[in-house]
Amino acid sequence: MRVAVCGAAGRMGREVCRALSAESDMELVCAVDPAAAGKPLRELVPEAPGGLLVQESISVLPDTGAEALVDFTMAEAARQNIPRALEMGVHVVAGTTGLRSGDLEAFAELADKRGVACLIAPNFALGAVLMMRFAAIAARFLPDCEIIELHHPLKLDAPSGTASLTAEMIASARGEADDGSKGGKAPPSRGEDRGGVRVHSVRLPGLVAHQEVIFGGVGQTLTIRHDSLDRTSFMPGVIFALREAPRHPGLTVGLEKWMGL
Ligand code: NAD
Repeated sequence: MRVAVCGAAGRMGREVCRALSAESDMELVCAVDPAAAGKPLRELVPEAPGGLLVQESISVLPDTGAEALVDFTMAEAARQNIPRALEMGVHVVAGTTGLRSGDLEAFAELADKRGVACLIAPNFALGAVLMMRFAAIAARFLPDCEIIELHHPLKLDAPSGTASLTAEMIASARGEADDGSKGGKAPPSRGEDRGGVRVHSVRLPGLVAHQEVIFGGVGQTLTIRHDSLDRTSFMPGVIFALREAPRHPGLTVGLEKWMGL
């Protein structure tokens, strides 16, 4: 599969370029990042194929024969780039967080129109996807729970996309409307109420991406925890999603749907 990477000079983008270069059925054909435009990609990612220069924008995509675009940028950029790629008939596998429901509706319409896949996944770590699923199962039996998500201090959004999706999955497993009212008024130190689930965000150097969901029941607690120890943890999920993409036209939110969970 011929793949382009948007945000190629970023922390995640570089890792994606490295991961693609190691797969025999993947070909990295285009790297886009205005912050490094014109630079040989190999200066950023020594494992990348020689001869690729980082591009300023995705307007070059049709000339590269890219079949899929991986996007790890920022919400404002993804809001522009994802519809453009879909319009070009290119599958999109995106990990960028902070997109809104209005964005997703527009992506769904374009993906349907062009018959290509658009995956928006807040977490590509397969273990994190399992953690969310296990939390949703636990919530059916132990409905009282809180989420603590811990990330590096440069993360722009809080709570994380993973924490928001986990809260949504828990609320839905508990059969509750997501009206945010369950927790009632509480001091800020009690975290943010997301559909009746309190979410606490920790930002500290040394952390990558971690989350625990703590359930409390009669005389017992259950803690489900996932740790991404470095950014390679996301790569098997990205490669899996690229291989799956042609089988799932239309918009999908969350990798768990393609994992059959
Ligand atoms: P980063 O700041 O290191 O990288 C973002 C890159 O995007 C930068 O190099 C920037 O120059 C580039 N960029 C900005 N505008 C662009 C445009 N128009 N076209 C192309 N590139 C553009 O950030 P990061 O840590 O790599 O994270 C990127 C995104 O991925 C964030 O939204 C983060 O929350 C998300 N993320 C998702 C997962 C997941 O599993 N889904 C995991 C980690 C991070």
